[in-house]
Amino acid sequence: LPALICKKRDGQRLEDQEIQSFVWGITSGTAQEAQIGAMLMAVRLRGMDAGETLALTRAMAASGQALEWPRSWHGRVADKHSTGGVGDKVSLVLAPALAACGCKVPMISGRGLGHTGGTLDKLESIPGFRVTLTPEEMLAALERVGCCIVGQSEELAPADRVLYGLRDVTATVDSLPLITASILSKKAAEGLSALVLDVKFGQAALFPTLEAARELAHSLVWVGQRLGIRVAAILSRMEQPLGHCVGNSLEVLEAIECLHGGGPEDLRQLVTLVTTLGGLLLWQCGLAGAATEGQGLLAQSLDNGSALGTFEAMLGAQGVPPNIAHSLCHGDPPERRRVLGEASVTEELLAP
Ligand code: URA
Repeated sequence: LPALICKKRDGQRLEDQEIQSFVWGITSGTAQEAQIGAMLMAVRLRGMDAGETLALTRAMAASGQALEWPRSWHGRVADKHSTGGVGDKVSLVLAPALAACGCKVPMISGRGLGHTGGTLDKLESIPGFRVTLTPEEMLAALERVGCCIVGQSEELAPADRVLYGLRDVTATVDSLPLITASILSKKAAEGLSALVLDVKFGQAALFPTLEAARELAHSLVWVGQRLGIRVAAILSRMEQPLGHCVGNSLEVLEAIECLHGGGPEDLRQLVTLVTTLGGLLLWQCGLAGAATEGQGLLAQSLDNGSALGTFEAMLGAQGVPPNIAHSLCHGDPPERRRVLGEASVTEELLAP
């Protein structure tokens, strides 16, 4: 490893086998944390070309199990991933809405990274919610419900679990090849047919400028296609929090409001993002003739309660007791807040 770190530190290209042996060092536990951190910083400073990024993604995906699905699901296994933002609760709404429209969504998500919030942290604010499912439990959830949202584990993309945590504490989050490999290694392990990526730009995103986000989107699409996934990316502005609320349980409450359909004007931006991303996926999967038709189907699933019903079933499949899932999905707003619990300190800040 020291020789590999030295090579990257000096700006040289790493061969596929060298990248594989770095990733093997991570998963086998033979690489020390200091060595992994040093390599991350070398990559952050020196970069990786497209071929190295593809090799890193493949090696990280191969660090765990590749999920396999029944043949009858072929073409309909779909997912969305975001490069991260503030107040971004799109996944909580989109996964059940897509499942309600006929997709199978085995979402492997992440925790907070840098200043951006994590879908898993948000879901864990729901009493009983389990983000660690075995591949067999995922299959059962997809068969019964159509979607699940889980984290990296010993079985699923374990190399990303280690690198993700270390990037967060070594100032190496905002690296184009590391983001590409992190996102796509999880997606490759999911055995996807179609993927849509929400690449954020702006002050609250990992990359502030549109140009940098566009470069990241190109990298993600290029590598994704070589992994055999139908990939599309959209660029979306992240200059202010998405929706009204920031904070794990507050964002769950807002997502449930969105799943109730209609919704106040404040949620329009959130609903638009959910239907835009979902519309693209339904079209990519052949479940809609065009992205606009897909948007309509997604909006319908929010309005007719089928997305909310799927969300409730997903909570059940991931360990939430039925009475809690029912209160959250069908209770009035005070009851929902009571289920999730109030923060010990609450302060209201009024904008002038
Ligand atoms: N999401 C991920 O899963 N990884 C990143 O590096 C950034 C966003």
